Amino acid sequence: MIQTQLYIDGQWQSPIDQGTRAIVSPADETVIAQAAEATRADARLAIAAARRAFDGPWRQTTIRDRARLLNKIAELIDRDAEKLAHLESLNTGKTLTESRTDMGDIAATFRYFAGLVASESGAVNEAPHHVISRTLREPVGVCGLITPWNYPLLQAAWKIAPALGAGNTVVIKPSNLTPLTTHHFTQLVAELDLPPGVFNLVTGGAEVGAELAESVDVDLVSFTGGAFAGESIMKAATGNFKRIGLELGGKNPNIVFADADLDAAVDYALNAAFFHAGQVCSAGSRLMVEDSIYDAFIGRLAERLPRIVIGNGFHGETQMGPVQSAQQHEKILGMVQAGIAEGARLVHGGKRPPGDVYKRGYWLEPTLLADVTAEMKIAKEEIFGPVITAERFRSEEEALRAANDTPYGLAAAVWTRDLDKANRMSRALRFGTVWVNDYHPYFPEAPWGGYKASGIGRELARIGLDEYTELKHSYINLAPKAMGWFGA
Ligand code: NAD
Repeated sequence: MIQTQLYIDGQWQSPIDQGTRAIVSPADETVIAQAAEATRADARLAIAAARRAFDGPWRQTTIRDRARLLNKIAELIDRDAEKLAHLESLNTGKTLTESRTDMGDIAATFRYFAGLVASESGAVNEAPHHVISRTLREPVGVCGLITPWNYPLLQAAWKIAPALGAGNTVVIKPSNLTPLTTHHFTQLVAELDLPPGVFNLVTGGAEVGAELAESVDVDLVSFTGGAFAGESIMKAATGNFKRIGLELGGKNPNIVFADADLDAAVDYALNAAFFHAGQVCSAGSRLMVEDSIYDAFIGRLAERLPRIVIGNGFHGETQMGPVQSAQQHEKILGMVQAGIAEGARLVHGGKRPPGDVYKRGYWLEPTLLADVTAEMKIAKEEIFGPVITAERFRSEEEALRAANDTPYGLAAAVWTRDLDKANRMSRALRFGTVWVNDYHPYFPEAPWGGYKASGIGRELARIGLDEYTELKHSYINLAPKAMGWFGA
């Protein structure tokens, strides 16, 4: 049985009150680990250690030191990639193929930020000859990083790599449902010769996250998760006006025009919605199809859905695993029922798959609800499970209006062969990412984040590093002389 501990000030330790939490496999509900469950008191210790480290020798590190550190972490991720992928699948239920992809992306993220950090240099500004004026980027300070359960280590990497690369110290709090890969990652970091307190792990629930958000000794909090927690973090952060980054939920339209390559669009509609059983913030669960092809498109999806292989993520033939928790399972089933009550037509799924093997664990069939209209709750709220809601539209204007009519703005996709229409739509859609004739690709070089209620700030890309820096104007007068403004 795996047992995890906290990592504070360079030491592995149990929570002060010895709290633990059973970690459960979503595939069969067996207990797979006992994780340390911290309280606010542990979080305070970690914050104090990170503060000391930031105010101490860590400030003297050079960009070369930090770029080397990130590259070293990438090497360790590569070394333990198979172990990490197994842990991620065990804990989240996602297929091993998906977890292996995550590990590759995580190593790439560290390498990308290593390259960016190494290329950092302040700018020298035009100024009078006796003045040296420079624009410098400096670390923000102590960073509290709070991550969700759907992409535990990937989301952590998007924060840890730029935070450490920019010269900050870190307290990370993964979701207490899925702490295992972040714990293993911390073991990797512990192999490196970092000063105590530079990197701290505090596993626990909302109260630990709230401590990070409230503490006046934390200078920046970066959070990925739901809108409810995001709002409370934003309020808590006002105590010391700390910097905040919020990556929140989405309700992401996948818009198919009649002139699209329909073979590709049908195939990607499945990928958009059922990848990681739909537990993706950018999942394309809101399918919008042009009227003239709507019925045929739904018919083709209806043929494909029963063929999706649901099963344990460790089995090679599995295409879709379970959802992560009992709470999610119940919530998704409830939303499907609410959709049907609102008038949606259940085409497939909406229940636990039949068979003994699916009796334990949080299994759901891939689900298709057709004849959804933009006014229905099911078209507006994030489901975060393997459910497609399909709406019909009659014109480009109607599709655009309906797609933008959501409080969220994370990601959208458009399927068409008409380049002019593709360009018009991608400009007019109010989302942080708009894909044309594709779904889901992202990479470290491109920014990630949402408009409106999908968040504040961006991760990845140069901006993902800049968010962890303060910008300073350094002005040095080399030949000071009395100015005489107020006389002699
Ligand atoms: P959640 O909001 O319940 O929890 C996220 C993290 O915040 C966890 O570590 C949790 O313990 C902590 N937390 C909960 N309440 C808190 C509080 N009051 N103060 C501080 N910390 C608190 O989210 P979740 O259920 O783990 O994740 C699912 C959500 O995350 C979905 O809405 C999804 O769309 C979103 N998400 C967004 C992105 C993105 O990039 N925009 C990526 C992944 C997930």
